[in-house]
Amino acid sequence: MSDPATGTASRMQRRIIDWVDDHRSDVIGLAQALVRIPSENKPPHGNELECQRFIADFMRQLGCHVDMFRPDEVTGLTEHSEYWPGRDYTDRPNVVGVLGQFQPGASRPKGRKSLLFSGHADVVPVLGEGRYGWWDATIEEGKLYGRGSCDMKGGMAAFLMAAQCVRRLELELHGDLILESVVDEEFGGANGTLACRLRGYNADAAVVPEPNNMVISRAHRGGQQFRIYTSGTSIGMGFGESVLPDPVTALAHIVVGLEKLNAKFNARPKPEGFEGDTFPLMPLLLRAGEQLPWGTGEAIPETAWVEFWLEIPAGVTKQELQDEISRMIESLARDVPTVGRVSWRMEERTRFLPGSTIPADSPIIQTLAKNFALAANQQPVFANAPFACDVFMFNLHSPTPCALLGPRGGNAHAQDEWVDVEDLITLTKVFALTIADWLS
Ligand SMILES: [Zn+2]
Repeated sequence: MSDPATGTASRMQRRIIDWVDDHRSDVIGLAQALVRIPSENKPPHGNELECQRFIADFMRQLGCHVDMFRPDEVTGLTEHSEYWPGRDYTDRPNVVGVLGQFQPGASRPKGRKSLLFSGHADVVPVLGEGRYGWWDATIEEGKLYGRGSCDMKGGMAAFLMAAQCVRRLELELHGDLILESVVDEEFGGANGTLACRLRGYNADAAVVPEPNNMVISRAHRGGQQFRIYTSGTSIGMGFGESVLPDPVTALAHIVVGLEKLNAKFNARPKPEGFEGDTFPLMPLLLRAGEQLPWGTGEAIPETAWVEFWLEIPAGVTKQELQDEISRMIESLARDVPTVGRVSWRMEERTRFLPGSTIPADSPIIQTLAKNFALAANQQPVFANAPFACDVFMFNLHSPTPCALLGPRGGNAHAQDEWVDVEDLITLTKVFALTIADWLS
């Protein structure tokens, strides 16, 4: 659509960019409205209902055909290999809006294109107090603060407003646009996204605006959270014992072993799409022993444990990851007497989230890149998304290749979470231009 010789915008593209500039306050207002509706995911429950109703109403006012359904009412969900059991989906509907003739599950007319935008409505529960109110959606110095602003209601507002832009401009779309807001993404849920795939909402390509700092990602990390326990028999202070079963020191060896194992993972050649990435190991909790009322410990603890989150590139399987950790601990138990004297076990604290990737020449990557350059007036940066997310449900368990492009922000899952307001404007332009381009 743009003039390939000059890279300047066509008349239609100019109208899109101008419309978004003229409706800046609507984009920001929608992001604020979404942040102001608490939608905490509190496993096994979640209170996404009000937010999902709001989004469904927004989609209806765009002229979408709207489908609201419980994830676990979708045929095949609970039997699927990636279904994560134990969640309660009462009052937790997924919402999908369709502009066009798309019928989920029906065979699509040949040559008719389709594009899907997907986001999650749930947010991590709030705890404690920050500088800004959790649900106030305060804007200060170009940042919108509040739970979910960055992860990921800002990105959702951008694609919903992009759809509004193409509707208000009455652009003729020769294809189908699918807008999706799922429940239960946080805490490794991902059942909401899987349920949409199984219900038949599959398209030529999908875009997920998780906050990846305005880069175009064709790949994202995977990860899993574990707890490792070490245990010995109770011996109190161990008077008279020269060799003590010592779970604390044994665990310390294991924690250092994990650091070395992660360094070994990072020294391996990185798979395609992850060049230049460094995968973190994040120890989150460490527990052992008991402080007695007078302020000291008086017994060697029977048990110690560490909880950590480990990130991995695409291609690493759950079995491979867990086997490598187990082998590392087994070898420590052979070589280090302190570790050999205790028993240990590993517990999964989240589901395994695989990384995933799509080819560099995927048309959606090219289309996003072209329209990013036009909207942002600068060349895009390509990099993998530095987090695990449910995009793998598209890339590994559906026919829809999925890319990521989302805003810059910070403090996700913490106090004073924020998103860059200007990025939401740019993203709205990129997404509207992409819709017009893909479906023209
Ligand atoms: Zn997210």
